[in-house]
Amino acid sequence: MMRVAIYSNLVQLSNNVAERLKAEIDQSEKLVLDSLNPEIVISVGGDGTLLSAFHHYADISDRIRLVGIHTGHLGFYTDWRDYEVDELIASLENDNGQSETYPLLDITINYRDGGSADHALALNESTIKQVSGTLTADVYIKDQKFESFRGDGLCISTPSGSTAYNKSVGGAIINPALNALQISEISSINNRVFRTLGSPIIIPPEEWVRIVPEEGGQPVLTCDQQVISGRPIKTIEYRIAKQRVAFAQYRHTHFWQRVSNSFIGVQDD
Ligand code: NAP
Repeated sequence: MMRVAIYSNLVQLSNNVAERLKAEIDQSEKLVLDSLNPEIVISVGGDGTLLSAFHHYADISDRIRLVGIHTGHLGFYTDWRDYEVDELIASLENDNGQSETYPLLDITINYRDGGSADHALALNESTIKQVSGTLTADVYIKDQKFESFRGDGLCISTPSGSTAYNKSVGGAIINPALNALQISEISSINNRVFRTLGSPIIIPPEEWVRIVPEEGGQPVLTCDQQVISGRPIKTIEYRIAKQRVAFAQYRHTHFWQRVSNSFIGVQDD
């Protein structure tokens, strides 16, 4: 029996879909509901719901495969629509372990109080921003000082997160088949005193990025939808994680077709 968990947002349509899924899994001889130790996690909602599901199961994320049902338009992490429950159940019952994996962002946060460091994994991105005043921070790539940044903040994204916040701040869209991370600026100040590169940077797997915020500032750090706060940050180190996120792949939508459908509209041949 394959163990399946359902993670839904609170929208009525999502709840209805979740109830239908539960009923069909209860009837199935090959599937069983297990929200504590699942092999498959079905997220019902949007891309944001799938991000929440990923973090909800963060402790066992190396052992699960995710599946996304979108109760709105098709998303980037969601291959199934709300009216396709029967097809999805049939695919789950015929599962042979097929999966597609994407890179994750590994985040290490060191604090000025000298206490233990924090680690987190992001599926979309991490941002470092300053709400009051501007963020001033030195950016290092592979331990070499690259630039001193001043502005609203920086967005460090995964390839699959490149279509989210990164895109809104002018970053490039990266096909998740590439193992890379991207740094994009959020409203940098560029004048005779402060100068940054001004364009997004794409980092390969063997390199890493360190950000050192100026002492005394109050930067806010995010990891996908979560805010990491409370202790004064000394450095944040970003790398492509060794671990990857796995999606149960029962159908394949070409990545660029997803991009085109989402941002431009359905294209005629
Ligand atoms: P939200 O603010 O309620 O929704 C953000 C939007 O981003 C939703 O439309 C969501 O799609 C979409 N989204 C999430 N991941 C995506 C991806 N990988 N590619 C394309 N679109 C994506 O927040 P949320 O739903 O909890 O999602 C958190 C994410 O919001 C963050 O990780 C960040 O990427 C994004 N965000 C974007 C901005 C911005 O663009 N200015 C600002 C803050 C946060 P669904 O409708 O399918 O859920």
